Amino acid sequence: MAETPSTCPYCGVGCGVIIQSEGSQITGVRGDPLHPANHGRLCTKGSTLHLTAAPALAQQTRLLQPLLRAGRGQAPQPTDWDTALDLAATRMANTVQQHGPDAVAIYASGQLLTEDYYVFNKLAKGLLGTNNLDTNSRLCMSSAVAGYKATLGADAPPACYDDLQHARCLFIVGSNAAWAHPILFRRIEDAKAANPQLRIIVADPRRTETAEIADLFLPLQPGTDVQLFHGMLHAMLWEGWLDTDYIARHTSGFDSLKALVREATPERVARDCGLDMQDVLQAARWFALGGEDGSTAQRAPTLSLYCQGLNQSSSGTAKNAALINLHLATGQIGKPGAGPLSLTGQPNAMGGREVGGMANLLSGHRDLANAQHRAEVAAFWGVPSVPASPGKTAIELFEAAADGQIKALWIACTNPAHSLPDQATVRRALERADWVVLQDAFATTATAAYADLLLPATTWGEKLGTVTNSERRISRVRAAVPAPGQARHDWQIATQIAQRIEARLRPGQPSLFTYDTGNAAAGAERIWNEHRDSTRGRDLDITGLSWPLLESAGPQQWPLPAGAQAGTARLYADGIFPTADGRARFAAQPYRPVAEPRNAGFPLSLNTGRLRDQWHGMSRTGQLGRLFAHQSEPVLNMHPQDMERSRLQPGQLVAVRSRHGQIVLPVQADAGLGLSQVYLPMHWGSEYLSGRNAQGQAVGGVNALTTPAFCPQSKQPELKHAAVSVQAVDLP
Ligand code: SF4
Repeated sequence: MAETPSTCPYCGVGCGVIIQSEGSQITGVRGDPLHPANHGRLCTKGSTLHLTAAPALAQQTRLLQPLLRAGRGQAPQPTDWDTALDLAATRMANTVQQHGPDAVAIYASGQLLTEDYYVFNKLAKGLLGTNNLDTNSRLCMSSAVAGYKATLGADAPPACYDDLQHARCLFIVGSNAAWAHPILFRRIEDAKAANPQLRIIVADPRRTETAEIADLFLPLQPGTDVQLFHGMLHAMLWEGWLDTDYIARHTSGFDSLKALVREATPERVARDCGLDMQDVLQAARWFALGGEDGSTAQRAPTLSLYCQGLNQSSSGTAKNAALINLHLATGQIGKPGAGPLSLTGQPNAMGGREVGGMANLLSGHRDLANAQHRAEVAAFWGVPSVPASPGKTAIELFEAAADGQIKALWIACTNPAHSLPDQATVRRALERADWVVLQDAFATTATAAYADLLLPATTWGEKLGTVTNSERRISRVRAAVPAPGQARHDWQIATQIAQRIEARLRPGQPSLFTYDTGNAAAGAERIWNEHRDSTRGRDLDITGLSWPLLESAGPQQWPLPAGAQAGTARLYADGIFPTADGRARFAAQPYRPVAEPRNAGFPLSLNTGRLRDQWHGMSRTGQLGRLFAHQSEPVLNMHPQDMERSRLQPGQLVAVRSRHGQIVLPVQADAGLGLSQVYLPMHWGSEYLSGRNAQGQAVGGVNALTTPAFCPQSKQPELKHAAVSVQAVDLP
């Protein structure tokens, strides 16, 4: 039996796994005791990874050879790789030549490795000449990115997992870490056990399993987070709990914020958020003083952990910024146990941000809107320019395809026909586009049904490269077994198509994609080295890192510039921020309610989220019966009093309607929800939940109900609230 150290592909905790294999078969998995994220532990999903790689399952679910559809609605037929690659390149190049570069778009994934991401980004912005390259990380972390940049000057989470041991107050907001980041939650439990004085505040509309560990639970109304944070700041100002010395020496813009929160009195905030005023005051006290009830002289460290409850919102950036404002105002940053720490949902959402793999970003944390940054990247890649026009972000991209503006769509390692909100528009986009390519490991996704060309990609256990977790830690991903069937690595497929596109769009010029597709290890390392060199002098500088160093010293946190002996655990210890004047900025952004108001027709607030044992659209976890033991089918959760008022019985079928569509499923009681709130797991798509959109067309899945409203700054959609109604379905 061989043992291969790698990284779990499920979530942003980024746990180390040891893959056990015999020949070409993965036979087991165990936690890597040497990996600093998990120290040998794995959650239910991670510990069953090997079972999802069983050959019998692969035959049923994997895409094992290129498939080409002769026409829409026809069954795809096997083709060979050369034909597939030539056709993919020809259709993309032809579209650029006939309709311009912005008629093509790439929609990729936070599941990709950093090397895959890097090639896709260079292909779109350096070769095709479009910034229409976005990913499903837009649904996950773009509000955190925008929040960090607006306040701290760079997309860099300043704290780390080890800060859990040092914190004396934990502020967990919009995160059910117990289910979504289970191994991190085990570390929270350890911290509580080691230090009974640790105060834990949990703010969430639902009383989740995470809330059960809280010393103070704040069941705020959906979408009112900014108002809560402003109220806490108001109280801190009034009570003299601020760190005025830190504000004076290391920040700018406090006066504007002070004026903004003047009206956010604890009474008003308690009313708007549906909270007890004394609880708002207690949260403010513990946050400012690090869990202490005394004075600022006793100030101890406070660490915030937050996730989709803040990010997936039409006020996502304002929520992130308002929380970071609290850390700056109290000096709770840059020291052990203190700081804001956003939790990434996907395994490599962070790596994608590093290489600029989104429509508004460029390599090495550069900004597309910055002419100097565009010139730097163009020079680095050896191309005349990087286009200045903004690329389309996820929602905009599919709306543009539905309108006929985007004609060729290349989708990699994601399932937009399940995961994006407003499925009616997404399905229209996939039908209207002249050409849809899907490269993926799985043939069973809803998106596969729309693809003209399907390209088989490798997945966990077969891929090699790197990923970065929530605490900026870069880990190696290693292949334990060869690729099944004819599957190829994502960067290999992208490179081979790019080389063919170059022959049409840049004939006679040296290739920009000289990575060795015949030698996966050498090719991937070469791409990573190029990415590393693009970070020189940037906030995430990793020019002191190499694959041999990752091999010998293990996973490392960025930055790690040339000459450094090891990575950097926490940022801004010196109080100097990557802004023009070196000061962090208070972002004074007002509270705005959710985009879709509730009314008499749609009186309930729908929240969507994750279950403990499932992942995304279940393309991997849905293969294992044992992972359905926790919850076996999609069920609408509703407060028992709301059920009683509507005369609903547990298990009864109900129609859930929003302004966008409707689905039918059973209802169950959940006293952890607030009144007038309902909750649906995100994992079941149209294959399981049939429904209709507002025009009566067949569109199913949870996202038949959700709104396309998004944050104007981060463009992240509001998946945490849609106004809905619930009615019993009369069975014949
Ligand atoms: Fe994998 Fe996340 Fe579980 Fe760790 S916590 S084993 S990374 S799913």
